[in-house]
Amino acid sequence: MTAAGRDQLRPAGTIDVVVIGAGHVGLATSYCLSERSIEHVVLERGEVANSWRNERWDSLTLLTPNWQSRLPGFSYAGDDPDGFMDMPELIRFISDYAEFSSAPVQTNTEVTSVRQNDNGYQVSTEAGEWYCRSVVIASGACNVAVTPKVADTVPDNINTLTPHDYRGPGQLEPGGVLVVGASATGMQLADEIQRAGHDVTIAVGEHVRMPRTYRGRDIQFWLDAAGILNERYDEVDDIVRARRLPSPQLVGSHEPAMLDLNSLTDKGAKLVGRLMGVRDGVAQFSGSLRNVCSLADLKMHRMLDTMDEWATASPQASQFEPGERFERTRVDDAADLTLSLTDGAIRTIIWATGFRPDYSWLDVPVLDRKGRIRHDGGVAEAAGIYVVGLPVLRRRKSSFIHGTEDDVRDITEHLAGYLDQGVA
Ligand SMILES: Cc1cc2nc3c(=O)[nH]c(=O)nc-3n(C[C@H](O)[C@H](O)[C@H](O)COP(=O)(O)OP(=O)(O)OC[C@H]3O[C@@H](n4cnc5c(N)ncnc54)[C@H](O)[C@@H]3O)c2cc1C
Repeated sequence: MTAAGRDQLRPAGTIDVVVIGAGHVGLATSYCLSERSIEHVVLERGEVANSWRNERWDSLTLLTPNWQSRLPGFSYAGDDPDGFMDMPELIRFISDYAEFSSAPVQTNTEVTSVRQNDNGYQVSTEAGEWYCRSVVIASGACNVAVTPKVADTVPDNINTLTPHDYRGPGQLEPGGVLVVGASATGMQLADEIQRAGHDVTIAVGEHVRMPRTYRGRDIQFWLDAAGILNERYDEVDDIVRARRLPSPQLVGSHEPAMLDLNSLTDKGAKLVGRLMGVRDGVAQFSGSLRNVCSLADLKMHRMLDTMDEWATASPQASQFEPGERFERTRVDDAADLTLSLTDGAIRTIIWATGFRPDYSWLDVPVLDRKGRIRHDGGVAEAAGIYVVGLPVLRRRKSSFIHGTEDDVRDITEHLAGYLDQGVA
């Protein structure tokens, strides 16, 4: 069977491949399977682009520019290539892709379990059982907002939110806000909340600093051109660390601006170190703030060195503006090591401490102790099980929209070989 089309629902039954999830990664996988005439269905618990519809805050825009929104057979075709999609635009883009590719998506079909059987796998949903030889897990990398253990010791008078709960500053009580985490999410939320008139304190651990523009071009141009995000997973020195790296401190906006810790402190936000614990209602921060900021500055400048090398060697060298170096992150020598959570100054804590996938429905023994799928570049330890859409799955760009194509082409090639072997 080739792609059946979204509106032609078929009853559950036997099929070669079940793809779980109709985000852009599941849809791109479907596109590549259809190219190879591999029979498949895409099961989605909500609507197409469900995560972007229901698990993001209102003001979110992509941090990757429109020109970089490309998927197999499809790319951004609007008149603002240098702009950044907001959520309605992105949902339309992904929905258009599903239409364009006639992906055989069955919406409102939650997968409740995947089990091995004699012929392959049994995929259970409330709408029936699917029997297949291969399963591609495209259920997302960010299903659960992670909160640290210390969250359990926060006093009851404090409201706590994760990025999945947060919609906008209008939902916050008046008063101070502690944002824990300085990745793209933490920085964007801290910036928005500070602008809305709250006093913001941001707890800063390891982070990735990046200018929005460099030498007259968007930073994504340089990352793309210099091939920095093309590095393969099997060439990365420390893959475990690379997969845990926080997202870069970037925001997509109409007037490109650097979103770094200096820009936050310029607006009045206060920096503290990594949140280590809460004792007797007092938050305790690490004294490593200066070190983590120096390290992030150093790494940013190293990355800019790589971009400069590429620019100098490029035939277009004369078209680029000269390189520059940025002011180091300003850290107060007397940054607070403690903050009272009971004196009323802080009313809300936002845990911008990362996300993780949810595989609670996966009953195949491929999970490690932490509940992550054991895989080699997306090929799981159980034959016929694949996972796509995870950070640095096969390349540094894997978790970005533009990184999807290379990964899903590799995976569908492997999968086609597996089906050809006739192994059940
Ligand atoms: C806040 C945030 C901002 C980001 N910004 C950018 C950006 O600017 N640029 C960029 O390129 N990338 C960005 N990303 C990264 C990115 O694009 C994600 O990694 C992306 O969502 C992954 O796509 P996906 O299709 O794998 O997952 P998702 O979009 O999460 O899709 C997974 C789908 O699987 C479904 N599903 C899950 N479990 C089940 C089940 N049991 N049964 C059936 N269906 C199920 C979900 O409903 C969902 O629709 C961002 C991510 C986040 C969290």
